[in-house]
Amino acid sequence: MNRNILISLDALGSNILESCIHRMPNLAGVMDNGLQVKRLKTVFPSVTWAIHTSVLTGTYPEEHYIFGNRVLDRNEGKTVKYFDPGYCKLSDLTKVKTLIEAVHDAGMSCDAVCWPLTQGAKGIRHNIPEFYLQNDFDSHSSPQLWNELQELNFPVTRYGAWSSDHSLNPLQDALTMDICSHLFINHRSDLLLSHLLSIDSFLHDFGLDSPEVLWAAEYTDTLIGRLLQRIEEAGEKDSTNIIFFSDHGQAPIHTELELNVFLKANGFHKWQGVSNGGSAFLYHDGPDRGLQPGSEERLEKVLLSMPWTERVIARENFQTVHFPVTPDPHGFLPDLILELTKGYSCGNDPAATETEHPSYYKAMHGYSADQQDMYGFLAATGPDIPRHVLIREASILDIAPTMTAVLGLSDRIGTGTALFDREAAHAGIK
Ligand SMILES: [Zn+2]
Repeated sequence: MNRNILISLDALGSNILESCIHRMPNLAGVMDNGLQVKRLKTVFPSVTWAIHTSVLTGTYPEEHYIFGNRVLDRNEGKTVKYFDPGYCKLSDLTKVKTLIEAVHDAGMSCDAVCWPLTQGAKGIRHNIPEFYLQNDFDSHSSPQLWNELQELNFPVTRYGAWSSDHSLNPLQDALTMDICSHLFINHRSDLLLSHLLSIDSFLHDFGLDSPEVLWAAEYTDTLIGRLLQRIEEAGEKDSTNIIFFSDHGQAPIHTELELNVFLKANGFHKWQGVSNGGSAFLYHDGPDRGLQPGSEERLEKVLLSMPWTERVIARENFQTVHFPVTPDPHGFLPDLILELTKGYSCGNDPAATETEHPSYYKAMHGYSADQQDMYGFLAATGPDIPRHVLIREASILDIAPTMTAVLGLSDRIGTGTALFDREAAHAGIK
């Protein structure tokens, strides 16, 4: 039976890929020989943890309930980060069936290395969930795999240090890919999930057209080349399907908005903002969790008068961004959503005193999925994937059904559409 690898190249948006592909010969080879989706439409807000859950479930946040990277815990009155292990147990957060469960139910193995929000994922075999702190890696990675990697001298005791410092992310990505090779070749994963960070981090820190981003793209491509070479050397090339995609792109920014400073300065003391980069969630955190009459309308009006507001989405219109209109079981659903105009990002500094300041980051995501800069891409090659196929546009929700097609599973995952017919691919029909 053929085996499968799905790798997320964080933030390598379709526009960014176009400007870097001349330095990525290994990825270019996959695109030229196999199947390519030029523009992969993401979900709103275009942030990593929500999107990767959409990839695994084939559904929007309205079904899987992971609304962004950050939400508010109204009971505790504090921001919840899904990369905090206290909050990010997938099986507690979403009841939608995942690709991991479908693989497990079919009697196959699914392993993951640094895939967001996999802590507590049902049906997973070997897993290193993505975190920022070493203690979290140590505590929540599969113990047997963790011990084995240490015995084999993989530097997993440095995962936290390399993850939390953007400039060290290339080391993390190299370690992640080395573990991927080890798992795939020696543990024979039927489906291996992984996620590389350097391009995203360098885009944030140095901007879209920077030499650092071009370097990160070239470096990531050498890691891809090394993985492909090891698979070939293990004699597994002809029985391996490999799929690369990006979760979103990034757009240039110049100014950061400190939403909570703005809210207080304008008398909205019972409202709290939570940043998701190019968008923000607004919560009315009064004890009744309801809205003061007129408060929402007043806030909406004030926000709409600001130059940094692209749009304000009220609860009754949440379906337009594929959010649920009725509260979720965790109470994480916001009362209002603010999308910022291009060039602005929502800051996250609790000590901030100014409403606006020049942004530390050079580029950001989190904006509408319709924004051109937010589109990703997909490239795939292998024995179960048609060759020389170019698809102009598809949805990130199409990845889960495509993977079930590649894996030959009878389970249908999510609401997307498979990118090709498996039988047709085998018959050589494009
Ligand atoms: Zn991302």
